[in-house]
Amino acid sequence: MIRTNTIELKPTKQEKMILKDLLVRSSAMWNLGNYKKRQAFFKKSRIPSSYKLAEILKTHPLYIVLGSAYAQQILNKLQEAWNSFFGLLKSKKVRGKVGLPRYFKNRRVNQTTPGLLICRNDCYRIDNQYIYISCPKDLKQAYGIKGLLRVKYNGVLNWKGKQKRMELKYIPYIKKFYAYQVVDTDPTPVEYNSHHLSSGDIGIKRYLVNYIKNTKDFVVLYPSQHVFKEYMKLSKKILKLQSIAKKENGLYSTNRIRRLFLKRKRKLANYVNNIIADFCKHLIDNNVSKYIVGDLSHIRDTELPVYFKNKKKVNMMIQNFWSFDLLIQKLRNKCEQFGIEFEQINERGTSSTCPVCGKKVKPNDRTFKCKNCGYKQDRDVVGSIQILNKYLQDNNMNLRVENHPIVSSILIEN
Ligand SMILES: [Zn+2]
Repeated sequence: MIRTNTIELKPTKQEKMILKDLLVRSSAMWNLGNYKKRQAFFKKSRIPSSYKLAEILKTHPLYIVLGSAYAQQILNKLQEAWNSFFGLLKSKKVRGKVGLPRYFKNRRVNQTTPGLLICRNDCYRIDNQYIYISCPKDLKQAYGIKGLLRVKYNGVLNWKGKQKRMELKYIPYIKKFYAYQVVDTDPTPVEYNSHHLSSGDIGIKRYLVNYIKNTKDFVVLYPSQHVFKEYMKLSKKILKLQSIAKKENGLYSTNRIRRLFLKRKRKLANYVNNIIADFCKHLIDNNVSKYIVGDLSHIRDTELPVYFKNKKKVNMMIQNFWSFDLLIQKLRNKCEQFGIEFEQINERGTSSTCPVCGKKVKPNDRTFKCKNCGYKQDRDVVGSIQILNKYLQDNNMNLRVENHPIVSSILIEN
């Protein structure tokens, strides 16, 4: 399985200059290749592949100062960007809103910006403290470097395995370099019992509610209102700054706004990681063989706190960016790592049907109350029970599901 190690580079002043120079050269190569591709695209002629571009450009001064290994890698990356552009064009969802792959360029001063450098798997080394990358001859001479360029880093390599390529990025609004090392690693399967299953319901007030089917069934849920509040506070601040920036100088974004976006994203990612780490312990301790999660079709306005209702923009923002995709992706990855099967199922109707008598119940608040049989339960717990019931039904499995499981609420600080 493919995983990525993310580390922050800690270059010295001199190394910073070398890295910037290298990244500008790489960006220049990207821009040149991108220009050729865009020309062909607008002329409706055949768009040159990365291989073809390398052929055409290999005598170009920009290609030579970067070196062929780096040049080929960045052209391949450009190819990927174009492939995903064409992929998006085909998907109906975003038609009309897709832009061509962009240039690494500061338009105001018409300058190439340090963007991205890609090191082929056999062109770098990494140990517990440093990365070592190859460096063009003229830079080596200018700075008196022998062999590979060595740069210190902060962070831990979480994933070990066969090393694939490594990407170096410069993020201008925080003035930092990051390295992303891709690794192909083996899963570490755990012992499981095929009758032990777990089902998850995803929401806003409780980010994740999981039913665990074991010899004794129980539910673990993760309340997330504290995180949501902070997330919304940051979002509101971003919206406010955006409207100020637009009014004052016609800009859509400023460095301050970008930093806030990054802060919001990191806080949430951190929280998600902590929840998943905790939950995974439960999956492993209970020998769960399969994890089933709903497909989020039920998250609608009723879930939103009152003070945001009817504000279209905020609602959209939550749907798009409260990062359910990220949560699902991370759950899937974790399951894969431990050899636990993962499945997403259509959860339509699951949270509005009584698990005891099967009657429809109109959900109005946090508590699920069935007028027909008197069953009472936390609404999200019912959601997780019903996702499991639906899965068992769909697969003709005859396992008992406890309608009154022990529920433990685990508060994970943000
Ligand atoms: Zn009922």
